[in-house]
Parts: sequence; C-alpha cells; structure tokens
Amino acid sequence: MGIRSHWKNYIDGHFIDSVAGRTIEVEDPATGEKIAEIARAEAGDVHLAVAAAKQCFDSRALADLRPINRGRMLIDVARELRRRQDEIAEVICHESGMGMVDSIDQVDCAAQYFEYYGGLADKIEGSYIPLGKGFIDYTIPEPHGVSAHIIPWNFPIELVARGVAPALAAGNTVVIKSPELDPLHNTFLGEIAGSVGFPDGAINIIAGYGDDCGSALCEHPDVNQLVFTGSVPTGRKILNCAARRIIPAVVELGGKSAGMVMPDADLDKVVASTRVGIFFFSGQVCSAMSRLLVHRSIYDDVVDRLCEMVDGLSIGHGKDNSDITPLISERQLQRVEGLVQSAVDAGAKIARGGARVADSPGYFMQPTLICDASPDMDAMQQEAFGPVLCISAFDNEEEGVSIANGTRYGLCAGVFTQDLEAAHRIAARLKGGQIFINKWFAGGIETPFGGVGESGFGREKGQDAIRNYYQTKNVGCLIG
Ligand code: NAD
Repeated sequence: MGIRSHWKNYIDGHFIDSVAGRTIEVEDPATGEKIAEIARAEAGDVHLAVAAAKQCFDSRALADLRPINRGRMLIDVARELRRRQDEIAEVICHESGMGMVDSIDQVDCAAQYFEYYGGLADKIEGSYIPLGKGFIDYTIPEPHGVSAHIIPWNFPIELVARGVAPALAAGNTVVIKSPELDPLHNTFLGEIAGSVGFPDGAINIIAGYGDDCGSALCEHPDVNQLVFTGSVPTGRKILNCAARRIIPAVVELGGKSAGMVMPDADLDKVVASTRVGIFFFSGQVCSAMSRLLVHRSIYDDVVDRLCEMVDGLSIGHGKDNSDITPLISERQLQRVEGLVQSAVDAGAKIARGGARVADSPGYFMQPTLICDASPDMDAMQQEAFGPVLCISAFDNEEEGVSIANGTRYGLCAGVFTQDLEAAHRIAARLKGGQIFINKWFAGGIETPFGGVGESGFGREKGQDAIRNYYQTKNVGCLIG
C-alpha cells in the first residue's frame, strides 16, 4: 500500500504542520490498523486559515477575475481530479472503507461538481429593474467573503466539491474543515488548487475535531458564511452560532427516507433500488432508503425477494469491491447494533443479518432486514447509518403516505408503481426535498438536493445551489 504516513494542512498555498504540533491518527476501518497521521488543526490553525482566506478575498484576486476565467480554473480542477483519480481513490478506500470502484466514482462525482459550477461561473447575472423615466436600477450578485465548509466522513471529497465549487464560482474564498475520521484525501484538493492557478488563500484545508477546530471555525469573526453537512445535533449548534453571529448558513442534515411499494410495482425495480438504496456504502448515506413500506398484498413476496438479494451480497474490504464494506468506526457499529436490538426488543423480526460480523478486526455489520417494523419504533424513526432496512406493511395509499411522512426528517422519499397518475399523486404528497419514482437515487449533480423538517434547509446541487453563495446588491440611480 502506497499511502504516505504523514499529512499536513493546506493554508495560504502551503502545506504546514499544526501550530501545536499535534496530529490525528487515521485508521483503516476494515482492519482497525493505523494507516497515517495528519496535522491536527486547533484554534491557532483555524485563525491562520481564516486570515489567509480573508486576505485573499480582500485582495479581490478571485472576485475581480473575469468570471469565465474563474470558471476555467474550476474546470481545470475537474481535469486534475480525474487525472489523479486512482491515487485519490486508493486513499478514500483505505481511510473510509469505501469500495475502490465507488471511490473512483466519488472522485469523478467531485470532478463533475467542479465542471458544472465552472460552467455556471459566468452565468451568475444581475438584473435591470425598470423604474420609469429618470431612473436606472440594477442588481449585482456579490460573494459573501470567507465561506467555511464543515463536512462529514461519508463522502468527504464529493461533499467538499458540492459546496466549494459553487462558492468559488461566485467569487468567495473557502476554508474546508475535513472530517476527523477520514481527512487525508481532501488534501489532494490543496495540491490541485495550487497547480491550476488559484491564488494563495483562495482554498484552505484543515483537519480537526468538531468541538475545537469546527467550533473555532464557526465562531471566527472573519468567517462570513457557514456551509454544514452532518448530523442534526451538530446542525443545531451550527445554526445557533450562525444566529448569534447573524451570518448565512446552509445545513444539510440526516434522513430516514422511505420507499413506498404499491401493489402494481415492478418488483425487479424494487429489489434493484433496495440493493443500492440501503446497501450502497453499507447504508452510510444521508439519502439512504432505510425504510421500505410495502402494500400488504405483496409484502411476503417482496420480503422473500429481498432475502434472496441479501444472500448474494459479499462482505469484505473495499479494495476487493465487496458489496458490504466496513462501517467507519467501532462507535458507529455499536450504534447500529443497538438500534437493531431495540427493534427486536420492540417485537420486530430479523429476516437477515442483525449483528456485527464475528471474528473480524474491522467494523463490519451484516446486511440486515428488519421485518414487521412498526412506525413508532426507534429503528423506524432514527437514522442508523448502516446496512439496515426496516420493512413495514401498509393497507392503503393514505396509510402508506402517513407512515412515510411520519418522522421528523424529510430528506428523500420514493414510490414504486406502474400507475403514472398514482406515481405523481403520491410524489406530491410525500415529504422530502427529493422524491424518486421507480428508481432510488434517480438524479445527479444537476438536480437540487436538500431537506425539509430536521433534514435541514437550503438546496445544494444544480443551479439552485449557486444562490447560497452570493447576496444581491441593488443599485438605484437618478439620471434626470
Ligand atoms: P457530525 O455532525 O458528527 O459531524 C459532521 C462534521 O461536523 C464533522 O466534520 C465534525 O468534525 C463537525 N463538527 C462536530 N461538532 C462540531 C461543532 N460543535 N462545531 C463545528 N463542527 C462540528 O456528523 P457525522 O457523523 O460526521 O456524519 C453523519 C451525518 O451526516 C448523518 O446524520 C448524515 O445523514 C449526515 N449527512 C448529510 C448529508 C446531506 O447532504 N444531507 C450528506 C452526508 C451526510
């Protein structure tokens, strides 16, 4: 394995160790072994990163560039990400546990964000507002300044790209706080930023823990915007901080998304969607289909087919492209096991899996099907973030929609039916920022994504997202 042993933060165009000289140890979740260490950023390092971003913003080196040229730099980042995708993917695979093919896809997806927002950089336009004779009135989109990006461990480089590419396209400078569990591969973005001509300080990348580095970044007086993806409890802290400081925030939080299977559904599509919807990256996906609500008339048939599919899943290291790879940590594994046990205690049945993989030094959870889950169970209400599907029966459309909408979350939802009218009627009634019909994860970087309820607010992806990264200034002028 060719992963270097010591990694640094990227501040003001340079790779540096932390002020206090401390480090974070990074392990391979498939083996539990340490693979590298990275400089641990704390308050002093946060200050250096924010100061660099502020100086770069104030110099107007990025904001005053002709937007088409800013866009070209973003597109160059995409090209470099693709050129180095195998090297980056190997690090993702070992520090986050993701399969190699999926890790390569993740790098490609990050590249797509840079391409998409690179293409949009010169289309962020103001408008002329007619006020009648004697006046000229127009608007100017203005970047916020220093945009802070705090992201979770499940898709670091993809989630960084999702927010950072539009932020840079609009002319902001950024400080990225990498997640403490798999912070290494974001570092490649620093190397790439320098190589494609971003001015020093435009992109800064630090690795640290949430309660010191993350909170110091949010509280820093020179940070002008908070962009957060992660859990609901941390999202609340971020919003409290944004409210106190009166700065804008985007919060993309968790989910407990449900797929609804109507009696006429194509069951091959249901099985294919379930396979990817809950077992992709072992369910460590905010938009995972973690609940499946099945019409009672086809319930037993669906469960049988899902059991057959689960029996065919392989479990192992991401480098072997196993279907089920490890969870990110022992803590996360224990949380998932606890939630499954709570479902059993409350009367649900385990059709497949239900426990960790015995005799493994890594953090592997068996792919798990929980049947006869009742809507109020913790396992039906709380995000597991593991390869665990709760299956529940419903008797009519009204009841199905009500169970699907009956959590505090509202990220995604889906419906499986061959009846076009029913599909769109149900899609309109389901709670969520994104609704899938007959294919879980239909959509792409071009389609707006975000939550309602405790899944957060603000939209990332697509053209909608660019609006997060500028404010509109109006200029009114008397000409008579
Ligand atoms: P988390 O909230 O524990 O951590 C997320 C990030 O916040 C990490 O970088 C962490 O260091 C940082 N952080 C923690 N405390 C902080 C504080 N007080 N101040 C500032 N930063 C702080 O979440 P996690 O366990 O890393 O990630 C899993 C969660 O992320 C799940 O709930 C998942 O659904 C959610 N998620 C959402 C999306 C989305 O787009 N909606 C995408 C991926 C993951």
